[in-house]
Amino acid sequence: MEERVYNFSAGPSQMPLEVLEQIQKELLCLPGAGASVMEISHRSKPFDAVIDGAEEAIRRLMNIPDDYAVLFLQGGATMQFSEVCMNLAHQGETMAFIKSGQFSKKAMDEGARWGNAVCVASSEDEKFTYIPKLDPANVPKDAKLLHFTGNNTVYGTTFWELPKVPEGCGARLVGDWSSAILGIDIDVKAHDLIYAGAQKNIGPAGLTVVILKKDILERDIDPVVPIMLRYKVAADARSMYNTPPCFAIYAAGLVFKWIERQGGVAEMERRNREKASLLYDFIDNSKIYKCPVRPGDRSIMNVVFRLPSEELTAAFVKQAADNGLISLKGHRAAGGCRASLYNGMPLEGVKKLTEVMKEFERHV
Ligand SMILES: *Cc1c(COP(=O)(O)O)cnc(C)c1O
Repeated sequence: MEERVYNFSAGPSQMPLEVLEQIQKELLCLPGAGASVMEISHRSKPFDAVIDGAEEAIRRLMNIPDDYAVLFLQGGATMQFSEVCMNLAHQGETMAFIKSGQFSKKAMDEGARWGNAVCVASSEDEKFTYIPKLDPANVPKDAKLLHFTGNNTVYGTTFWELPKVPEGCGARLVGDWSSAILGIDIDVKAHDLIYAGAQKNIGPAGLTVVILKKDILERDIDPVVPIMLRYKVAADARSMYNTPPCFAIYAAGLVFKWIERQGGVAEMERRNREKASLLYDFIDNSKIYKCPVRPGDRSIMNVVFRLPSEELTAAFVKQAADNGLISLKGHRAAGGCRASLYNGMPLEGVKKLTEVMKEFERHV
């Protein structure tokens, strides 16, 4: 086998090796099914065990209360930008958005197509290098939802303190936690709805996890909303209104069980803090690398940093790749470099990264 590299991509990202090996072992014959998980009916007993097992495991991992539903959907987190609006507001109604980065802007763009999308806080003035404070007075009383991006994948910031819906406002709190779900402890009860694309911290692309308060399912929704995009339809069909992404759900279930064996989300967060501190400390003490993000708002999942010039950035990214450390180039909107340190990235990978960074700096 060719040697595996350390993949610092923001997504799809590195998965735990143990999970990949289990997938390899079971690929031709899922135990009890006599065939691959890609070949069996989603209405079969073996697949029932796969999807139920995955739901039970994520419920245990995130302490999801009984009055919340868990949905396994498709379309990525991007589909949720509009799906959330269509399920929580009627056309033309008001929705509040916190603009803290690339994906929150995209979410608001979709909101503006459905209704009256209001920006209630923004950090665009300083290129999204901090988490904006929400002034409760900015949230319209009639807003149906308050949307925020919990971890800003492109700019490397995190809402370490959750935004709050002001008293007297009926808005539902919606968090896009695509790039930090299961990597840090997230208080599900404090949200009405959480969504996350799978390809960062959960498993293969093609699956989106939505965790929502069950009373949302009883809302009277706009009749134009397509059947496929109604949460209630998905919930009533146990996420199998149509053929679900069977393989991605299976792989996600294995990742959930792997996290449980490691000690749960608390242990993941401990490891992620250790990895991120190692890298941030190195950057903060170096002469050529700089992290533009305010220290208190820094993400432990996506670490962004800059070098003094485009030429040095390109040379560093190349030298890292030559050393088996790939995908360190920053998002095109942010520039510079970015190291994503999701659950699948071992501490050794980050140690190796700091060694290569040190070596590069010595020769500048
Ligand atoms: C990656 C990402 C998205 C987009 O996810 P897709 O699954 O590609 O649609 C949205 N929000 C955040 C925070 C992300 O990190």
